[in-house]
Amino acid sequence: MRLPVPGHGASRGSALGRARVRLPHVLEVGEQRIEDVDAELDRLHAAIHVVRGEMRALRQRLHGALAQDVGEFLDLHALLLDDPELLQGLDTLIRNERYSADYALRLQRDRIAAIFTGMDDAYLRSRIDDIDQVIGRIHAALHRRDADAGGVAGEILVADNIAPTELLQLQSQGVMAVVTSGGSTLSHSAILARSLHLPLVVGASQALTKINDGDVLVVDGGSGLVVREPDAADLRAHRARTREYARERKQLNRLRREPSRTLDGVDIKLWANAESREDVAEAHALGAAGVGLYRTEFLFLNSAVLPDEEAQFRAYRDLVIGMTGRTVTIRTLDVGADKADRTGLTLAGEPNPALGVRGVRLSLLREPLFETQLRAIVRASGYGPVRLLVPMVCCREEMVAVRALLARVVADLRREGHEIAESIPVGAMIEVPAAALALSGFIDLTDFLSIGTNDLVQYLLAVDRNNEQLGELYTPLHPAVLQLLRSVIALAGRRGKPIAVCGEMAADPLFVPVLLALGLQEFSMHPGTLLEVRRAIRDCDLAALRARAPALLRARDRAEIQRWLAAAAAQRPALPAQ
Ligand code: PEP
Ligand code: MG
Repeated sequence: MRLPVPGHGASRGSALGRARVRLPHVLEVGEQRIEDVDAELDRLHAAIHVVRGEMRALRQRLHGALAQDVGEFLDLHALLLDDPELLQGLDTLIRNERYSADYALRLQRDRIAAIFTGMDDAYLRSRIDDIDQVIGRIHAALHRRDADAGGVAGEILVADNIAPTELLQLQSQGVMAVVTSGGSTLSHSAILARSLHLPLVVGASQALTKINDGDVLVVDGGSGLVVREPDAADLRAHRARTREYARERKQLNRLRREPSRTLDGVDIKLWANAESREDVAEAHALGAAGVGLYRTEFLFLNSAVLPDEEAQFRAYRDLVIGMTGRTVTIRTLDVGADKADRTGLTLAGEPNPALGVRGVRLSLLREPLFETQLRAIVRASGYGPVRLLVPMVCCREEMVAVRALLARVVADLRREGHEIAESIPVGAMIEVPAAALALSGFIDLTDFLSIGTNDLVQYLLAVDRNNEQLGELYTPLHPAVLQLLRSVIALAGRRGKPIAVCGEMAADPLFVPVLLALGLQEFSMHPGTLLEVRRAIRDCDLAALRARAPALLRARDRAEIQRWLAAAAAQRPALPAQ
């Protein structure tokens, strides 16, 4: 019978396929005993063999910066897969206790987790995530049907959660879409799914209880609706959406070489948020003004060892060279809080990491580490224009300290004979409400500004950006957010400081009229959504929107803001039908 399973649309696209349900790893496996020990050992080792092959194949398919970013995870996982402690423990449990391979995996996972949890070192503690992923892969392989061995083309994966590395693999295997019961539209997986154009629905809380392996599903990654056993109307809607998305992509592709110009002729600057060489190539091809946000933490998060000055320098230099003279904005390390602590850099046992030592606070606390990063960034400036962006700034003192250290680093590098830029503009992320409110007190220490709406919204509204339980409470369409954005943008304008939004708000075409009305003229987003934003900009009349800004700022709740948006949309020309 037809059953709607609602979630949140995290990556647009429509898919029709059979469900492959992946239950949350082994943790839910109850005690099971088996008769035939040898057959069970063979089953386990065959699964491990399959996983080893999958990881090798995936490793070979990675190129460019992905090879570095994702490859480090895979290398570590391959090492774990060969770990005698892990393997012998499993064999012993099956042989001596006659446990099923599934239950042995669960026991072994729990044992290792207990050892890791007791460790003092935060880095080692965080390795339990890797153990979980490896054990999860073996468990999945144990349950793979023969027909599936070659891949899962045409299927829709239904799982509790999904890691960025898995998304890449799934897409290359021909998976049509992914539905997760947990997750958030702002997670790194969601950002990656959008750039891969792989439909993704997150937060479909009933997915694992209502959907069974083999069920036929229709997934709309735009609205977030999943339908089990779709009826004729659902199939018609899916076909219509598929046509619509294809038409859209065709239209969008025509905008590759067009300017990001409003109807009344104002050019809006579109920067790219780039993390890999592929992103850089795409940003370049789409005519991005440059890189508006390079999140350096991904160099650290995906690595088992901290990257030294040379490793960082090479990554930044390649990024700068890749942009062939267009400006690259490199953000200093922003680990902590929701950026999983794989580095061991963040402090252990913080009661509230989102309000703890993250971003520039951590950098200033670990000065040698920060100095190394600044040296690498400044050295990269010898190869093309570089701007330095400081995350999580909350007060003037932090900008003073960053500038002092930067001045020392620049002087050292000059003395050592390095070729570096004459000047490196320094910007502050505006993502802590205090920084937005007290900006006039430190704007003189900035050369440009970038608003991080992902964090600004969470801190201003006290709504965790990754907590799906809070649902619609997390939204930039709140009067407080709009008023704060307006005051920051206006102040930057008065002081002649370029200002962009680099949070996900800038990547959503829906919000374009709002940001333009508030006076924003620079947007930074993942290249995967750049053309959609460009199209939205080209549909807007800037002067008309600016004239309607007072009405937007008078809105008292989301409904009024949405009515304002609907009225703005009604003023736009209709899309040509083709
Ligand atoms: C933001 O907070 O909006 C932002 C761009 O930074 P991040 O998402 O990396 O925290
Ligand atoms: Mg942020």
